[in-house]
Amino acid sequence: MQAKPTLLKLYRSFADVRRALQESKVSVVALLQHYLHQVALHNKQLNAFLQTYDQEALAQAEAVDRKIALGKAGRLAGMVLGLKDVICYRDHPLQAASRILEGFRSQFSATVVERLLAEDAIIIGRQNCDEFAMGSSSENSAFGPVRNALDTSRVPGGSSGGSAVAVQAGMCLASLGTDTGGSVRQPAAFCGLVGLKPTYGRLSRHGLLAYASSFDCIGTLTHTVEDAALLLEIMAGPDEFDSTASRQPVPSYSALIGQKPTHTKVAYLRPTLESQGVSVAVKEAILRVIELLKAEGFTVEAVEFPLLEYILPTYYILTTAEASTNLARYDGVRYGYRSAGATDVESMYKLTRSEGFGKEVQRRILLGTFVLSASYYDAYFTKAQRVRRLIMEQTRALFSYYDFILSPTSPTTAFKIGELANDPLQMYLADIFSVQANVAGIPAISIPCGKDSQGLPIGLQIMADWFEETKMLTLARFLMEKLRT
Ligand code: GLN
Repeated sequence: MQAKPTLLKLYRSFADVRRALQESKVSVVALLQHYLHQVALHNKQLNAFLQTYDQEALAQAEAVDRKIALGKAGRLAGMVLGLKDVICYRDHPLQAASRILEGFRSQFSATVVERLLAEDAIIIGRQNCDEFAMGSSSENSAFGPVRNALDTSRVPGGSSGGSAVAVQAGMCLASLGTDTGGSVRQPAAFCGLVGLKPTYGRLSRHGLLAYASSFDCIGTLTHTVEDAALLLEIMAGPDEFDSTASRQPVPSYSALIGQKPTHTKVAYLRPTLESQGVSVAVKEAILRVIELLKAEGFTVEAVEFPLLEYILPTYYILTTAEASTNLARYDGVRYGYRSAGATDVESMYKLTRSEGFGKEVQRRILLGTFVLSASYYDAYFTKAQRVRRLIMEQTRALFSYYDFILSPTSPTTAFKIGELANDPLQMYLADIFSVQANVAGIPAISIPCGKDSQGLPIGLQIMADWFEETKMLTLARFLMEKLRT
């Protein structure tokens, strides 16, 4: 059965897919063929997928259809997913959108991937991103920039830009991205999607190529909060391969988030709406949400956060330090690319790393090596660790009274390709509101909350305290429903 392209409009949620499968309106094979067809139509222009696994995925789809017929299918039968090119999928290439991993194949699958596959999800392919997840625009890829499907002269955000566009353009139903400082939420905001970054440690990082290990989180890009909740509950839980994966019980998020929220105390950080860098359209959209919440009986109050200006510098000192260590392993000896020009061991290291890594990755390795060097360690690294602790404590102190903190996900809507490419500092500012959640380790979600005058989506960020995903997803779902009506 060949699916028609219009199918795409019908299935923006997994609930719709499941219903159609139950009523035999579609098969998993037809669904997959449909997505592959969309990839064939749009990927050349959008550059979201680096590779799709057509034959293999089709064979899996046939197997899932057989299981459905026998009544033995898993909870994700019919879920077609893409993976950001930093998440291991056994026996498949993995490159972090970098030359340095040319030719590398994963020897095992990430724990989260294993758990999705065990419930019959299908992995359709791997997705373009900023090299090693460093960036906010998906322009820092060795494979060229990803384009926003709503306006192809604009970026989709980053670093999980390919993962966002794949869902946005209907090339798969959901994607796994990663969020070290906003890389799931900011592309979700720029593409009109739901982007979930769970509490640090809620999901195992086993099988995730490390950028900054104490910040890295796997997250989801979906059209609905319900799908984010379902994927989270299937992927979460302890893992013997990652000691930072939490043993906290995993609630049945998807079953718990349907009610009207009973937690109603909301704060927003005053400067996130008042500072100059926030565009008028973004500000107005967030103010509308605040009014809506008040009308629904929520208490919404502006709060100060004196450490706000220190969050971004703290993030960049600590993440570059961790990156410089994590990326030391790519030296031409063990993985992927090795320079053909090398004449001895030292030139092999130097040439391989100079040719294999792109500009932004090199910039960060240098910065990270600098802040870790003996003469500057205390002045930068130790100090930033202390400030991180303060930011974490003060963020969590807000949650002793408030249930949620709201802000824009990003100060602007999607910018033009090339607009910030030569101005790293401006680019770093795209994450000014998203990095707090990673510095503090708390969960955060971005949901669409309107459009600017050019029709570009705006994202609302909701943050909650450690492991309060149920509460956060409940509010997100409720708000999405209200914002639609
Ligand atoms: N844009 C931020 C950075 O460049 C966040 C990246 C991320 O979350 N992976 O570091």
